[in-house]
Amino acid sequence: MKNLLRFSDEHFIIDMMYARENNMVGQAVYQTVGFGNNAYMHEKVAEALLSLVPILEKNKLKMRICDAYRPPIAHQKMLEIIPIKGFFKADYKESNHCHGTAVDVCLTDMDGNNLDYPTEIDAYEKRYAEQVLKGDFSEFSVHLQKARHDYTKASAKQIQNREFLKNLMEEHGFTSIPHEWWHYNIADWENYPVVEWK
Ligand SMILES: [Zn+2]
Repeated sequence: MKNLLRFSDEHFIIDMMYARENNMVGQAVYQTVGFGNNAYMHEKVAEALLSLVPILEKNKLKMRICDAYRPPIAHQKMLEIIPIKGFFKADYKESNHCHGTAVDVCLTDMDGNNLDYPTEIDAYEKRYAEQVLKGDFSEFSVHLQKARHDYTKASAKQIQNREFLKNLMEEHGFTSIPHEWWHYNIADWENYPVVEWK
């Protein structure tokens, strides 16, 4: 794919959430559009991730990648499935995932079990996905507060794991956003245009 490389490394688990059905849209959209379980990204993003390897090895950890480059065609489909305003960016050009400059990640043990965080990635839970798909955003919007970096009512371990990930990413070329503990952008993301696919 133009300008993007397909990321693969033994220290990372490629587990694109929209390539499986247990996600907020309840469908394997990345399979539907023929993209599959692949983590594409700009070379600079890949280099930044690989710079984490010594720390992953030292701490006996792996990193799970649950989203990276998102084909605009997949983003459009996700918007159609959940048309709630503000849930997904109304214009795919505004999603850093469609620029190949963002990753959704968490740390796992060596067996691939996620460390304990205040929520799952995407704040996913089956019951919330079912509610949202019916157009009921009320309970999930409350739950989403737990996804924020400034959410303090999580357990000490969850907060420690969230902050460890944030420090790690920010020390290795990424920036965080306040409302999603799992989402990281490469620091100069503004310089990369949206990448069309196919
Ligand atoms: Zn993200």
